[in-house]
Amino acid sequence: MQSSTNSTVNRSTHDSSRSKSNTPALRVIPLGGLHEIGKNTCVFEYGDELMLVDAGLAFPSDGMHGVNVVMPDTTFLKENQRRIKGMIVTHGHEDHIGGISHHLKHFNIPIIYGPRLAMSMLRGKMEEAGVSDRTTIQTVNPRDVVKVGRHFSVEFIRNTHSICDSFSLAVTTPVGTIIFTGDFKFDHMPVDGEQFDIERMVHYGEKGVLCMFSDSTNAEVPGFCPSEKTIYPSLEKHISEAKERVILTTFASSVHRVTMILELAMKHGRKVGLLGRSMIKSRKLIIENTVKKDIWR
Ligand SMILES: [Zn+2]
Repeated sequence: MQSSTNSTVNRSTHDSSRSKSNTPALRVIPLGGLHEIGKNTCVFEYGDELMLVDAGLAFPSDGMHGVNVVMPDTTFLKENQRRIKGMIVTHGHEDHIGGISHHLKHFNIPIIYGPRLAMSMLRGKMEEAGVSDRTTIQTVNPRDVVKVGRHFSVEFIRNTHSICDSFSLAVTTPVGTIIFTGDFKFDHMPVDGEQFDIERMVHYGEKGVLCMFSDSTNAEVPGFCPSEKTIYPSLEKHISEAKERVILTTFASSVHRVTMILELAMKHGRKVGLLGRSMIKSRKLIIENTVKKDIWR
């Protein structure tokens, strides 16, 4: 038995996924997102089964004139689509879900499991792309365990990140458990009050983990990153002191931040106007998915 990673497109066939003892090997194959920002797409292979984790896009760099979005090379998935048993989504950032609608036009993904917010975003994207009938979407809650194919069992562990409703994964396979953190930052004062489920991580740590895949931008920088909540006083200062209009820019998917801005607008008697297609779409999603939905009304 062996576990291995491969940062290039892997064209392994059925036979190459077997070790010398003829026991299936577990392979973890990142098709994007390794040593780069964007297009996070990871494949778990055990025996004749494949499970995908996230499928994102990247935005073009300066030299890519005329390019709107960048997708990973999915030749391996097209060639092996009969082996794909399902997909797990960790959270709703574009670099984790932005490729799914595109991929559904080219290969089959029988079922997709993911958090409510990400799945709401995905439904909108699939409608736009005309692929709503190509897969089944299943929303999950913290500590839910789903079975993908015969070999993969995945527990969703609540984590904290710049987008709410985000998960780390414990992927249990016949050769051991892999902790796949997904994107995260330790935020001890999350805006929505949903704490990182460290207890569950400890549980798996004590049981024994085969391997951990950890992904947190700037994790090598010493110290702590500030909580999302720390921007609240500064935002409040600007919003309360401004004599006229206040213009704020943020990612539409930054639900925590948008929620904070709306709370402050209510507190200081200001009207809110949203600009931009994603932001207007986000409003609907936030109403459906956040615990603070009352502030929109
Ligand atoms: Zn992210």
